[in-house]
Order: sequence, then C-alpha cells, then structure tokens
Amino acid sequence: VTKSVEVFLQQVLKFRDAREWGKFHTLRNLIISVGIEAGELLETIQWKDDEQIERAALDVEQRAAIEHECADLFIYLLLIAHRAGFDLVQAGIDKLQINAQRYPVEKAKGSAVKYNKL
Ligand SMILES: [Mg+2]
Repeated sequence: VTKSVEVFLQQVLKFRDAREWGKFHTLRNLIISVGIEAGELLETIQWKDDEQIERAALDVEQRAAIEHECADLFIYLLLIAHRAGFDLVQAGIDKLQINAQRYPVEKAKGSAVKYNKL
C-alpha cells in the first residue's frame, strides 16, 4: 500500500479495533456501506441545480458535508481493499491504465460516449 495511504489505513484499523467493529466488517457489509455512503454524498446535492452545487463547494459548511461523505467512502474503500487483499492506490493506477486503453485520446477526446460505443 502506498506509504501515506498505509499510514492512514493503520489509523483506520486502530480506530476500528479499539471499538471491536472488525467483526461487523465483512466484505458484504463494507460493500453495502459504500452504497449507503454514496447515497449520503448524493444527499448533499439533492434538489440543487448545477450552479448551486458548484457554489456549495465554496461554502465552508456545505463543502464540509461533501468532504465528510467523501471521507466515509474513502475509509470504506480502504477497508474493502484491506479485507480483500489488494492495494487500493495500485488498483487505481491499474484501472487508469485500463481506461487509457479503452479511451484512446484520439477517439475519446471531448466525448462522453462509453468505450464499447467509441
Ligand atoms: Mg456518511
């Protein structure tokens, strides 16, 4: 695991273990939790138009709400990777490479079309 991420993961595990929450952290529960936290992130923009959402990022309180839900997602993703035995940062690096092959610049530039339709 990438050094700074590894340090953070250890903090997360220490927090979890001090509370004996590890027993709840099955892969199923962790993956479900990502969905729940993604819902909470969506809640931060519910009923807002694009302009209001962009302005929310400039507002200390509203940005903090977005920040907190992103952090929850990050923590659960780290716990999933830890539980499943992979390096989340390396997985991101690998996936970016896959995406680069799926979306060559000459075909994908300025386009929102999915790779199988390019
Ligand atoms: Mg949350």
